[in-house]
Amino acid sequence: PYIIAEPCVDVKDKACIEECPVDCIYEGGRMLYIHPDECVDCGACEPVCPVEAIFYEDDTPDQWSGYVNANVDFFDDL
Ligand code: SF4
Repeated sequence: PYIIAEPCVDVKDKACIEECPVDCIYEGGRMLYIHPDECVDCGACEPVCPVEAIFYEDDTPDQWSGYVNANVDFFDDL
């Protein structure tokens, strides 16, 4: 799946939510998260993010690699 990383924190622009065809982007306390089991890897959300916070999981920059699990954990905790 695609994931959302640190640039989203305290931004939550939500342009991605408008683009997602399966409505799998959810709002958390300080950022948005992509549901890993619902994402269909369409990539529509990535280019519309104004802060470039969205990555295909395998392409996530090393400094934000922890956000791959953060997107999974957010839904485990619900
Ligand atoms: Fe939604 Fe597509 Fe982005 Fe996955 S890649 S979160 S399905 S818009």
